[in-house]
Amino acid sequence: MKFLISNDDGIYSPGLRTLAAVASKFGDVVIAAPDVEQSSMSQAITSSRPLRFRQASIEKFKAYRVDGTPSDCVALGIFNCPGIDVVLSGINLGTNIGSAIWHSGTLAAAKQAVLFNLRGIAFSVPVPETDHQAEPDWDTAAHWVEQALERLLPREDIRLANVNIPAKPKALHWTRQSIRQYDGKVVGAKDPQGRPLYWFTVVPITETEKGTDRWAMEHGFASMTPLRLDLTDEKLLAAAAAEPTVTKIVSRKRSRRRGRS
Ligand code: MN
Repeated sequence: MKFLISNDDGIYSPGLRTLAAVASKFGDVVIAAPDVEQSSMSQAITSSRPLRFRQASIEKFKAYRVDGTPSDCVALGIFNCPGIDVVLSGINLGTNIGSAIWHSGTLAAAKQAVLFNLRGIAFSVPVPETDHQAEPDWDTAAHWVEQALERLLPREDIRLANVNIPAKPKALHWTRQSIRQYDGKVVGAKDPQGRPLYWFTVVPITETEKGTDRWAMEHGFASMTPLRLDLTDEKLLAAAAAEPTVTKIVSRKRSRRRGRS
């Protein structure tokens, strides 16, 4: 099995090295990651300028740094390194759970793999809460990444998965995505010249639902959420499709009325 390792924290993140080391137990590894941090870039691609794919030195691994987004890295990695089976993204410094995954560059790298008809798995760990300068325990994270890969890799039916690993996991749990509403909170500040600055943060505002990624993390379990790219609301589609003639009649009446006025 051949893995492409990427992330959104940048190619020199310790989480990327940790993930590459674990992946090398399962197969061949090549790294393509952003040359600077690209967190919260989501699925953005660089379409207004060309990109560079430069060799980098990350321990024993074949590695490339890209002056673009996580999605760019995956696209260029797949283009330049034939034979990739699975894209692994992370290990991100900071969890990616619930509605916040809409913004995640870490998950976007895995999603980009699925857009190319490959498999993608994203990994994230929380940043230590008491001391933000402290590193996560990478040995513990590596152990649980390995546990998750042992369960996920044989399951070819899971094309996209999001894995979050708390500081000291008790076990792995299959979860669904928490859809708890969040407050996209903007916090004002001032620069040294007194001019206004803004920080955009994401704060959950409703209760945790049992069985979700957020629930697992709050209860000390590593979470594995199988995801899909199809956003269609099947229930709404079925309901709407059951009344197709109503929609047509309404639109015809509207156009007639517009014609008279
Ligand atoms: Mn990040």
